[in-house]
This record gives sequence, C-alpha cells and structure tokens, in this order.
Amino acid sequence: MSSVTSEEQVRADDRAHVFHSWSAQGLINPLPIEKAEGSYFWDYSGKKYLDFSSQLVNINIGHQHPRLIAAIQEQAARLCTIQPAFANDKRGEAARMIAEVAPEGLNKVFFTNGGAEANENAIRMARLHTGRHKVLSTYRSYHGSTATAITATGDPRRWPNEPVAVGVVHFWGPYPYRSPFFAEDESQESERALRHLRDTIVFEGPGTIAAILLETVVGTNGILVPPPGYLAGVRAICDEFGIVFIADEVMAGFGRCGEWFAIDKWGVTPDLITFAKGVNSGYLPLGGVVISDEIAATFDERPFPGGLTYSGHPLACASAVASMQIFKEEGIIEHARALGEDVIGPGLARLKEKHPSVGEVRGLGVFWAIELVRDAARTPLVPFNAAGAAAGPMNEVANACKERGLWPFTHFNRVHVVPPCTTSADEVRDGLTILDEALTVADGFYTS
Ligand code: PLP
Repeated sequence: MSSVTSEEQVRADDRAHVFHSWSAQGLINPLPIEKAEGSYFWDYSGKKYLDFSSQLVNINIGHQHPRLIAAIQEQAARLCTIQPAFANDKRGEAARMIAEVAPEGLNKVFFTNGGAEANENAIRMARLHTGRHKVLSTYRSYHGSTATAITATGDPRRWPNEPVAVGVVHFWGPYPYRSPFFAEDESQESERALRHLRDTIVFEGPGTIAAILLETVVGTNGILVPPPGYLAGVRAICDEFGIVFIADEVMAGFGRCGEWFAIDKWGVTPDLITFAKGVNSGYLPLGGVVISDEIAATFDERPFPGGLTYSGHPLACASAVASMQIFKEEGIIEHARALGEDVIGPGLARLKEKHPSVGEVRGLGVFWAIELVRDAARTPLVPFNAAGAAAGPMNEVANACKERGLWPFTHFNRVHVVPPCTTSADEVRDGLTILDEALTVADGFYTS
C-alpha cells in the first residue's frame, strides 16, 4: 500500500502548493524529510540529523514511539471521531489523567487543537470569570498566532499583526543576564520585577485587569527560568487584585522542564494552565486549558461561549492517554530531569568555559539556551530581530551544526538545546560534541 514519493516530487509539490508559516514564500527552500525515529530524522539523501530541536520543541517522547503509534492505530480502528457534545472514554480519561498531574484544585480540562487556541480560551475564561477585559503579558514571550494570542505575544511576530485584539498590556519579566531592572543578582531581579508588575497593575487600573498570562519558563524568547520567589510573588499579586493567573505551559509542560508541569518546580498554583505540544508530542494536534474549580464553577449555570468541532478529538485524546502512560512507565519525566542535571547542564557549563562567544548558558530539564555574544560587554552575536545579512553569524553557527548532523533550534542570538525528553545521555553527549565544534564559528566573531 505504501507509495514512495521521490524527493524531487516532494520538493515540486511543496514549492508549487504549500504556503508555509512565517515565511516569504519565494525565499524558502524547505528540506524534504523522509523518516524519523527516536532522537533522529533523515532527509532523502539518507543524511541523519540528531534532533536537538524536538521539531518545534514538541516531540517530547521522541519520534515514532512504537507504543504511541499502536495506541493511535487501535483508537482509529475503534472510533476515529465523535463530536464534543458526547461523552467519550478517551476524552474523559485524558482529562482525568491531566487533572491528576496538575496542581491541586485544577480539575477540569477544555481541549483545543493547539497552544494558541488554548491561550485564546483561557483569556476568554478569565474575562468572563472576572468581568474585566485587560490581559497583562510580558515582552519576550510567545503565546501563539491567533488574534488575542499574537497580541499577547511579546516578540516581533506581533508587529505585522497589529492591530488585532484590544486590551493587552505588556510588561517586563525577569531576565537576570540582561536585567531590565539593573539588578545585580537574582533576588534583586525578582523583587524589582514584582515591583514593576505591581506598579503596572496600579497604573492600568486593577479593576480592569482580567488576567496575567505568563510562560512559566519563557521558551522561544530565551529559556528564561524565573528567579526564586518570582512566581510566588505573581501569585500573591494576582490574589491581592483578584486577577486570574494563567500559566502558559505549552512549551514548558509535560516533561520539558523535568516536571509534569514546570510550575511544580516552584510549588505555585495558577488558576489556569494552558498546554499543547508535549501532552502527546504532536503525534496529533492537541492542546487545552486546565481549569481551577473556582473558574470552572463560573460556568456551572452559565454556558461557556466557546467551542471547536475537534475539541477533545478521540484520536488526539487517545494519544495523550497513551503518551502519559508511557511517560509514567518509562520514567520519562525523571529521565528529562536527570539529563538536565547530570549531562546537559554540566556539558554546557564546560562549553561556556571553553568558548568566549558563550555569554551564558541556562535552563533545566531538556530546556536550555546558549546565549552567544561578541564581546565582554555582552553585545549579542546578532542584533535583536536580526534578519538577512545581519543574521549571518547565527546562520553560520546553525549550518556548522547541520553539516555535522545536528539539527539545532536557533532564535536571534541563541542556540537552544531542546532534544526529546527520551534522548539518551550518549546521544546528548554526541550533540554537545558537535555544538562544541560549531561554537568555534561563533568564537570567530568575538573581539576581546
Ligand atoms: N505558547 C507557547 C509558550 C508556545 O511556545 C507556543 C508555540 O510555540 C504557543 C503558545 C502556540 O502553540 P501552537 O503553535 O500550538 O498554537
């Protein structure tokens, strides 16, 4: 039954008919991929790449996990789809299993097709629950590309989309390496970031603010791990002003940070958690919102005015159930945590010692960034939002990785080390060896 399409045909169909995300269509030449397995994928020439990007930081369980494939096949044979108004075994089981690993008091799940829709619906819930309209989110964030989610985003992807949604206000989150608050250590950073957030709320009008939307650990915009006390401080501010705390765990959740939910690391309970990606590693599109009992109760007697034809799709939910079972039985969360502590963290620290272009390494679990600089003053290797020739040095670093069989995740002046949670310690070491070689390219731009 299987039909093998030639590389030329894949390229031809793609160039003629596929309209790609985020791209000038005439300036791209997407690499055709033939197959994938575990931590690797292959192009049509047979070249093998170690996937240090987990695609878009979503293949947490690795490529083509046989048990996950079997669970999808089994469900497909039994019931491919049923609309959201019916009760369905896999939908219910997935929701129960997610609630079981979520912080105490978050017991219901609204399913979506991905992360942007999850944030969109979390904001809708917060607005209806509070009767207020504003949403606060940080600069240096990404929340998705639908209307409110892209407006909440704090990176340049928002700019060409404006004006889209109303009522979004941005503020600065903590970033000790380039402190917006001129802080000298993490505790100052945390304290000053909280003061800035509180001031923003006071001057925006607390009675107008429905929600604070935060990536628990900022992902694409830098793997910014919150300093001690920050998330607890945000929780306290939300309580003080009756604001809903939405933790965006689309990228940080489901093993990425060595926890089910990243926020578990800080023992803080938000009101809503948005998820997608790692919940089923994107084997099928799935996302959602985990909802506190209090917010869920708002919609006990009053209808929730939102829905999606594929909300709680049985195939996607069956894959989430199987994925969570595999995570538990194969100790994947613990493995991801140990990889961060024992292999990636120490390995990156060694790279920092060796390469002057490495300004900082930071992260946890399988969620790490290498921040590249040009000099001791921390000038970024490429400027913020660099494109075209200005992005050249980063492209050279990325190409040096790809030539050696490593597929990196790069963003502005950073290389993110974000392999699947299932990657072995030896595979990680192989990847770090390639990175070590590629970083000599970045060192070439360093001036002391
Ligand atoms: N939130 C975060 C933190 C993300 O990283 C992403 C995607 O990268 C999204 C939301 C949007 O998710 P999706 O692309 O599934 O809509």
